[in-house]
Amino acid sequence: MKTKDVLIVGFGIAGLTIAKQLKKRKKSFDIISDESQQSSKVAGGVLNPVALKRYKLAWKADDLMPEALIFYSQLNSKIDRPYFQKVPVFKLFSSVEDQNNWMVASDQAKLDPYLNPQIKSLDLAAHTPFKSGEVLNTHLLDLKGMLSYHQSKYTENNQFMSERFEYDLLQIQDDILSYKNSTYRRVIFCEGFGVTKNPFFNWLPLYGNKGEYLVFKSPDLSSNVCILKSRHFIIPLGNDLYKFGATYSREQLNDLPTESAKIELEESLGKMIDCNYEIVDQIAGVRPTVRDRKPILGQHPEHSHMYVLNGFGSRGVMAAPYLSRSLVENIYDSSSLDNEIDITRFLKFYA
Ligand SMILES: Cc1cc2nc3c(=O)[nH]c(=O)nc-3n(C[C@H](O)[C@H](O)[C@H](O)COP(=O)(O)OP(=O)(O)OC[C@H]3O[C@@H](n4cnc5c(N)ncnc54)[C@H](O)[C@@H]3O)c2cc1C
Repeated sequence: MKTKDVLIVGFGIAGLTIAKQLKKRKKSFDIISDESQQSSKVAGGVLNPVALKRYKLAWKADDLMPEALIFYSQLNSKIDRPYFQKVPVFKLFSSVEDQNNWMVASDQAKLDPYLNPQIKSLDLAAHTPFKSGEVLNTHLLDLKGMLSYHQSKYTENNQFMSERFEYDLLQIQDDILSYKNSTYRRVIFCEGFGVTKNPFFNWLPLYGNKGEYLVFKSPDLSSNVCILKSRHFIIPLGNDLYKFGATYSREQLNDLPTESAKIELEESLGKMIDCNYEIVDQIAGVRPTVRDRKPILGQHPEHSHMYVLNGFGSRGVMAAPYLSRSLVENIYDSSSLDNEIDITRFLKFYA
């Protein structure tokens, strides 16, 4: 059997974007992924370049956001379902001071392209005593739908194995890696928080941060075409369904919903909307977050055919297209990685 270029381990947003970057380069690959991590499947999918608590531009947003918009638009243009759409985010102000902070922020050159200076009233069943501000050019990606669509395509193409990757079955020869009955030139690990069980990369300082959403139904809210942000986000899913969250916790790092998150979110939702609703689901995932809050990309210090693409815990949807391209250029064009994302910054942890 012919040796393929890459084996991708893990199919969340990291696995999907690296697969697309490899395809652009006409590289051959297989994907192996299980359901042990749910981060991408439960993620809100909001592409918003502004941190709305302190009104700060997110890390590298001016580079990451334009590339993400082109990448996901092109991806969706080949599919006849709207997985990627422009959806405005409205920040509901909590006080007059908050409103003033928005006005000041929208006047700054850095934030000017992203914050509409006009204060708006919304005709929705939400508590908005201090009105709201619109973040410009925000988008929503139905990541679960997008992943499921591509998983089916890769499965039809015999490129997708829906199973656990068994690390001890990977055999490393000089120029080739063999796994079960196949051989590859490289393996790229895109396992999210699952990397903590990977014997080749478990030294990376990746800690999890659990996030939970409530899913609720409310025909009266009438917010089907925008995302609302107060302390938490209300994200429209269609058919009067909404996601509400997410929480942040360093405890119980698994995909099981918790009672404490339910209580926190129900209390917050009650303060945010002013209509009837019914909770229909609660979902959870573990964000792969890094100590310095930056992604981790690059080559294993000893096994030169092994790479990692991880640390997408914060704004992973916005960052993944740019970072997966950076990794592919690093592998095939020998271009260097930015120091702040390069795996080499953590070599001191490699025993
Ligand atoms: C509640 C929540 C809300 C979020 N909201 C947003 C948002 O609105 N916007 C945003 O930009 N980001 C958001 N994020 C963050 C971001 O989307 C995720 O952190 C990102 O999806 C991580 O993607 P990943 O591909 O690195 O990992 P994952 O999505 O975890 O994917 C890893 C895949 O690898 C598989 N895997 C792991 N180990 C193995 C193995 N040994 N064998 C086989 N398969 C394996 C896993 O099962 C999984 O399928 C959110 C995250 C959470 C949890």
